[in-house]
Amino acid sequence: MNLIFLGAPGAGKGTQAEIVSERFGIPAISTGAIIREAIKTKTPMGIAAREYTDVGALVPDDIVIGIIKERLQQDDCNNGFILDGFPRTVPQAEALEKMGVIIDIVVSIEVADEDIVKRMSGRRVCDSCGASYHVVYKPSKDGENCEKCGNKLSVRRDDMPEVVLSRLATYHEQTEPLKDFYASRGVLKIVQGQEELADTTRLTAEAIGNPEA
Ligand code: AMP
Repeated sequence: MNLIFLGAPGAGKGTQAEIVSERFGIPAISTGAIIREAIKTKTPMGIAAREYTDVGALVPDDIVIGIIKERLQQDDCNNGFILDGFPRTVPQAEALEKMGVIIDIVVSIEVADEDIVKRMSGRRVCDSCGASYHVVYKPSKDGENCEKCGNKLSVRRDDMPEVVLSRLATYHEQTEPLKDFYASRGVLKIVQGQEELADTTRLTAEAIGNPEA
């Protein structure tokens, strides 16, 4: 099953993608995580991407399309995959189609902007393994360190309030049109993001046709 998770930054698509990934045994591919890793290790792509991510703008299409092209060729994608954070523009979605990739379902997780701002101020991430937590909705066991690798959790630079507002504007302008794009292909499912993580997970499972999971 080939899935795309759409949604504003902080809508919970990354968390749901991780859950579905474990349930189905297919990889969740986050272009944001790949870009952050490249920034951390200062690869040429990371250095080029940083000027965009720092201000809440999108990294140019050719860079992210290249990332996805390479990633989808890896063997672990043979039985399906979940794209988390890609595509984010219509040209990216068109590039995916040109690659011959068939998408079965696109789940758009919808959350009001004001709730997003509240949520993102509490988000914490592990710089080492990329796991994400939230001080209220999904705290790590000890509240400070990653449960998977023990690394100290931090606030992502692009989760700072002024960057969040800019990322939301970018989402509405450039990514939201993808809902019409995929609705016209008959694969769009809307999930209303809920206060409780488990409720959103249940609705997401229903949207992808796996309600009893
Ligand atoms: P995310 O973790 O998905 O919110 O991504 C973090 C940042 O990486 C975004 O704010 C963008 O600057 C960049 N990014 C991630 N995915 C894409 C994409 N598909 N197209 C353009 N920029 C992206």
